[in-house]
Amino acid sequence: MEKRKPERQCTGCGKKGGKENFIRIVKTSDGMISLDISGKASGRGAYVCCDVACIDKMCKGRRLDRSFRTHVDEAIYRSILEEFNKLEK
Ligand SMILES: [Zn+2]
Repeated sequence: MEKRKPERQCTGCGKKGGKENFIRIVKTSDGMISLDISGKASGRGAYVCCDVACIDKMCKGRRLDRSFRTHVDEAIYRSILEEFNKLEK
């Protein structure tokens, strides 16, 4: 039987694929939400393409509210976008 890799879905555009194609965003048990560069932080994860357009879509559509089933503060979306922009440089 073929072993299937778990599929992740981009919170921005909805594209699916292996986790290596995405950046993870984590909500830790103490409620902190941030980019998880290592991909190994414990907590609930959401995934987004390595693409500022997807991050932007995710922020504008407040998609993390649904992923994490909580109200995610505007400031958190902004800091995720900022962190991502830092990575790009
Ligand atoms: Zn995407």
